[in-house]
Amino acid sequence: MTARLTDPFQRTIEYVRLSVTDRCDLRCTYCLPEGFHDFQEPAAWLTFDEIERVMRAFAALGVRRVRLTGGEPLTRRDLPELAARLAAIPGIEDLSLSTNAVQLKRHADALFHAGVRRLNVSLDSLKPERFAAITGGGHLDKVLNGLMAAKAAGFAPIKLNMVVMRETNEDEIEDMVCFCLEHGFALRLIETMPVGDTGRTATGHYLDLQEVRRRLAEKFELLPSVMPGGGPARYVQVAGTDLKIGFITPMSQHFCATCNRVRLAADGTLYLCLGQDDKLELRPLLRAGAAEEDLIHAIREAVARKPERHEFREQPAKIVRFMARTGG
Ligand code: SAM
Repeated sequence: MTARLTDPFQRTIEYVRLSVTDRCDLRCTYCLPEGFHDFQEPAAWLTFDEIERVMRAFAALGVRRVRLTGGEPLTRRDLPELAARLAAIPGIEDLSLSTNAVQLKRHADALFHAGVRRLNVSLDSLKPERFAAITGGGHLDKVLNGLMAAKAAGFAPIKLNMVVMRETNEDEIEDMVCFCLEHGFALRLIETMPVGDTGRTATGHYLDLQEVRRRLAEKFELLPSVMPGGGPARYVQVAGTDLKIGFITPMSQHFCATCNRVRLAADGTLYLCLGQDDKLELRPLLRAGAAEEDLIHAIREAVARKPERHEFREQPAKIVRFMARTGG
């Protein structure tokens, strides 16, 4: 292995969020505008061969965690084939998937056999009508069927990601706690971020999770805890149960000092920070026939430009690209 990938702030990059498409089969209010169709053409996406070349270069630089994401990754054809190719790369130890689970029932077994082990499923409401309103017409039963299929396939842990919004779904946090207790899922609560116009609109429903944590502590005894995964959640465990609750607080308590990741968009743009525009275009290099050493060199130079932190509070209008474009 070549020397590790470090940035100017002494952070080691060991985690890549890998977006395989910017397309999605839902239109969550805080993510994509209603009726949005202005997606990239598939010709712009990196092919599986190109993704594998990039990820081999990252693995040579010490990256050991990869999360497949999007857009909705299950809308990309043959995703299990890509997962198997990534799982086989020496050095990649942890392959996970973020999904809305709409199509998970069909793909759960194949993804598990391909080597995906950890799963994050977005779920903001357990009420069918509210779920449809938040997701632009999504069917809750499909997601629940997907979740049960994932559990049966053997995924562990399964974490539910709930974007908590004032006057939208804040009244469902306890129901979600009960649902996770019943099924052995972990719960992760997320603050809305001002990414894209939709994200900015949603911050009108912003709820500080420090407040939510205080409310939960009145109902449950919360003990400090940790969970496997390279992400930014801070966990507590509900005393007397196996339930872990994670708080992802980019706004009220940002976690940039411990950032260990970069994001590769479906078109080969490597974003160095979710909340900044600094990037490296890898597709031209790949299509010009770059060798692994060339990719390693380019990635190393890019990471040397990784910004210190996002400025969601100071400059909420800065990031115009939607979350689905960067890769969630
Ligand atoms: N489609 C997959 C899914 O649903 O998990 C992966 C991509 S999605 C963009 C990844 C995560 O980003 C989801 O949990 C979603 O809720 C979150 N997200 C999208 N826009 C957001 C925003 N403005 N603020 C906070 N979280 C957001």
